[in-house]
Amino acid sequence: MTQIGNTNANAARPRAGFAREIISYDPATGEEVGRAPLGSAGDVAAALGRARAAQRAWGALSFRARASVVMRARAVALEEMDEIAQLISRESGKPAAEALAMELVPAIDLMQFFARKAGRMLRPEKIDIGLYRFLGRTSTVEYRPVGVVGIISPWNFPWATPLGEVVMALMAGNAVVLKPSELTPLTGLKVGEVFARAGLPEGVLEIVTGDGSTGAALVEAGADKIMFTGSVPTGRRVAEAAARRLIPVVLELGGKDPMIVFEDADLSAASGAAVWGAFANSGQACASVERCYVHESVAEEFTRRVVEKVRALRQEPGPACDLGSMSSERQFRLVEEHVAEAVARGAQVLTGGGRARGCSERGWFHEPTVLAGVDHSMTVMREETFGPVLPLMTFGDEEEAVRLANDSDFGLTASVWTRDIGRGRRVARRIEAGTVMVNEVLYTHGIAQTPWGGVKQSGLGRTHGRWGLLEMVAPHHVHVNRLAFVQDVWWFAYTPGAASLFRSLARRFATGSLLQTLLISPQMLARYRERRKR
Ligand code: NAD
Repeated sequence: MTQIGNTNANAARPRAGFAREIISYDPATGEEVGRAPLGSAGDVAAALGRARAAQRAWGALSFRARASVVMRARAVALEEMDEIAQLISRESGKPAAEALAMELVPAIDLMQFFARKAGRMLRPEKIDIGLYRFLGRTSTVEYRPVGVVGIISPWNFPWATPLGEVVMALMAGNAVVLKPSELTPLTGLKVGEVFARAGLPEGVLEIVTGDGSTGAALVEAGADKIMFTGSVPTGRRVAEAAARRLIPVVLELGGKDPMIVFEDADLSAASGAAVWGAFANSGQACASVERCYVHESVAEEFTRRVVEKVRALRQEPGPACDLGSMSSERQFRLVEEHVAEAVARGAQVLTGGGRARGCSERGWFHEPTVLAGVDHSMTVMREETFGPVLPLMTFGDEEEAVRLANDSDFGLTASVWTRDIGRGRRVARRIEAGTVMVNEVLYTHGIAQTPWGGVKQSGLGRTHGRWGLLEMVAPHHVHVNRLAFVQDVWWFAYTPGAASLFRSLARRFATGSLLQTLLISPQMLARYRERRKR
């Protein structure tokens, strides 16, 4: 599997004389955006220590108190929305409008959602313990913060991805050490600044900028949980390092997300969705449409509409721009490789295919590219391209569509297009992915209420929704016996009478039926008397 750029030849290199700095460049122009420290293992350990010290008081606050800080941070983000979008755009190459739509809007919505709902979602719960209730027992679960959450994030959504996890971690009462991508360190620092301006106590959110070595140091330093978002190879390294220390991890990794267009789909909507799903963020989204399967009876018409829409996309630096540059040279080269290999093996380029003409000479602009004549032997259909490439393939029937969609190492999201919602749901159930959308693409990461995460190589665990919040806590179970004077029948000594009762417990009590259990009450009473004599 190809490793997707965790370094960028242009962008994150410590310069002579500045060994402890990373430089952030605008990938659309090659200009320097700014500099940030290259955090060492010592810096990480110090940040973790500060976070640990600050967590105690933060975790002891009420949900309401924590929510008010998050809501103040939300107000700061709203106030500085355009400035933040500009920064994201400069560090990542995406249009500022896209930064607003895909990063600011969902993150600001997520902040209000978790600020308002986390308390309810993490309310202590009384557990139904079945027949044990009749023995005078109760069980409750409280959700305690795990402690310090280490968040390691990528460059493709440098604001929304880390910020969402920071909010969930903070609302659950944790402190956080965030290591943003080396390509977008200033956006990472901005996340910290917004919370600092909101009055978050010092130490509760530590931002340590740096590269892969800084991320590795965060895992080694012993955070209580690691939330990692990035590529499969790095995710595997993080999981291995965390396993050595028995640190739990959530891995949000890559995707090769399929889109299935049935013959009864609304072709106008489906073609628009394919174009946005494949080319938003220049295709650098984990849930981008990376494979599109179209029923053979509508393939010609669908393809015509897709190509027409792609040719209308505007790709020039400036405000009226649909597609920005790739975020790094490394990512640009990877896209070139995938397209070149597909073409060498017989794929046809219907539009695009190479470096965008008319865009900044120093920027990494790749044309939105539509391929036909592809098959599953090609890298472009198997590995994450993470660029503006939409390969189209046809299928004959539902079985074949499902088989093709599932023929992948990845399983993040998928999309099914049909006017028949019943059919959409039926096909959705058969697709191996964390999320399957019917008549939608890409966007559910933006819905804070819904779980986000993948199966197969796309990752472990979930973020967002109650499922994401539960990743940030340790369930703390308290069990109470109100009838302590009645000693348990399963305690020593294991007499022949005890063994006989245990058989009855297996046959009757373990049915979960009160009636069945009552049938063995004489045996229980006898055992109780036997135990009292000892
Ligand atoms: P990457 O794996 O190269 O880097 C991710 C982060 O890990 C960076 O901050 C990097 O500095 C850090 N890192 C690198 N080596 C490390 C190590 N040994 N230990 C700890 N941290 C280390 O990924 P990327 O190129 O920044 O991002 C692109 C990838 O992210 C794509 O594969 C994309 O699909 C995936 N992604 C997934 C999701 C999701 O929700 N599933 C969301 C966004 C991006």
